[in-house]
Amino acid sequence: MKYVVVSGGVISGIGKGVLASSTGMLLKTLGLKTTSIKIDPYMNIDAGTMSPLEHGECFVLDDGGETDLDLGNYERYMNVTLTKDHNITTGKIYSYVISKERKGDYLGKTVQIVPHLTNAIQDWIERVARIPVDDSGMEPDVCIIELGGTVGDIESAPFVEALRQFQFRVGKENFCLIHVSLVPVIHGEQKTKPTQAAIKDLRSLGLNPDMIACRCAKELDQPTIQKIAMFCHVGPDQVVNVHDVETTYHIPLLLLSQNMMDYLSKRLQLEDISLGAEDK
Ligand code: ADP
Repeated sequence: MKYVVVSGGVISGIGKGVLASSTGMLLKTLGLKTTSIKIDPYMNIDAGTMSPLEHGECFVLDDGGETDLDLGNYERYMNVTLTKDHNITTGKIYSYVISKERKGDYLGKTVQIVPHLTNAIQDWIERVARIPVDDSGMEPDVCIIELGGTVGDIESAPFVEALRQFQFRVGKENFCLIHVSLVPVIHGEQKTKPTQAAIKDLRSLGLNPDMIACRCAKELDQPTIQKIAMFCHVGPDQVVNVHDVETTYHIPLLLLSQNMMDYLSKRLQLEDISLGAEDK
């Protein structure tokens, strides 16, 4: 199983959901079976009790799960059917660990965020990623995990730590991270400092970006890409330009035109899986 984590920095609502869905869709075009998990670092068990005025519409899954709109995007872009377990919230994971504690599963131990909660998050991800989500009924090859919120927030800290540990649990060749950042345009100039700060925050938590997807009102200039590459310690081919488009259905093509799949294929050794699927 390969995992592609999509996280975000600088501001919320930066486009992580659309990027995660588009990446999943492009991976599908390589002949891979994809699935996705959305992590929402709020204390609610699900989105069913949240005001649509504050949070946007709630998306109802086939099994009745009331979730974030992003799960609807995943289902549409990847043509999959997800379950309520594909949405992990802080409320759900705490409730799971606390009920285990009450049953005596940790008997004798002091139950802590690390390792008990962070292990529960990792176990949950590994279990749910394997659930078949399309008509083939087969286990997926790639799981896209979107980490909601902004890296550095107190809310998402246990999930960030769990993902930091997870990269070692599953191995480097099975885990890659796309961080979505903002490049504001001030007086006509594309500013890279917020992205530099966001990547610094990310690295300080033990996560290194394989790709930096930059949201910008305009297409990124070549010097901006070079500057982000230099100051964020990545190659220019790891900086992806995600400028504002009229409809978000253009994003997969925008990513494709920047050879994102070539990078991901090499990084995650995806060709081996695609070839294996053709042999079957
Ligand atoms: P997040 O998951 O980071 O909260 P979303 O993916 O939900 O963000 O996107 C927030 C909003 O921005 C959505 O309304 C989405 O349609 C819009 N959006 C995302 N990417 C783009 C883009 N490249 N161009 C225009 N609108 C975008």
